[in-house]
Amino acid sequence: MNPEAVILPLSALNHQLYCERRAYLIHAERVFVDNEHTLLGDLAHEAVDTPGYEHRAGWELLRALPLYSDTLGLSGKADLVEVRRAGAAGASQISNRKSQIHDRHAVVAARPVEYKKGPARRWANDRVQLCAQALCLEEMFGLRIDSGLIFHAASALRTEVVFDAALRALTLSTLDALRSTLARPAAPPAVLKPQCDGCSLRPVCLPEAGGRHKAGLFEPRDLSADFKSPI
Ligand code: SF4
Repeated sequence: MNPEAVILPLSALNHQLYCERRAYLIHAERVFVDNEHTLLGDLAHEAVDTPGYEHRAGWELLRALPLYSDTLGLSGKADLVEVRRAGAAGASQISNRKSQIHDRHAVVAARPVEYKKGPARRWANDRVQLCAQALCLEEMFGLRIDSGLIFHAASALRTEVVFDAALRALTLSTLDALRSTLARPAAPPAVLKPQCDGCSLRPVCLPEAGGRHKAGLFEPRDLSADFKSPI
């Protein structure tokens, strides 16, 4: 990564793929508006927003784990990361828990888990955000991560997401597009689309007016035809 490049939050990839105007408004102009979807999302995250760990079915569950990638210039937090450690068959074998959490060499397998309030969505943004988390974990722990999980609070179902070549390529191209979006001198124009229905920024974005008001009201035009000559 260019050392001058700004470190971006993982969530911005999600916003970029959902709508580049949304990404620009939130991350360049610092506009944010809550709606029922964002508030329900906050509630769904309550159980995993407090850092901590536990053991379940042979996996160690790390909640609210900070993530970073120097290579990609990304940072953020994973709702949950499930890890297996070399030679760790149970809690009794682990003597110093705090140092274990940060001991990257002890981790032999990991998979990120993201909590979402609703059912699986048709957009790829949630899968790209999860894949970016995996890329961070691969760099942090020095291992390959093949899949992760999205937990849908509405249905209590977990969807497996495979980090195949196509999803990895989409994640990296989304990161490039995000950097281009945020380098723009002004927000991309509003374009009314299906994503607007669930977007919390709709009241301030006004996608219904996208393009029309500027062309109709502010475009310079020849006014001479509007006036009759006095002679
Ligand atoms: S309302 Fe539509 S165009 Fe505006 S930021 Fe949201 S998704 Fe993008």
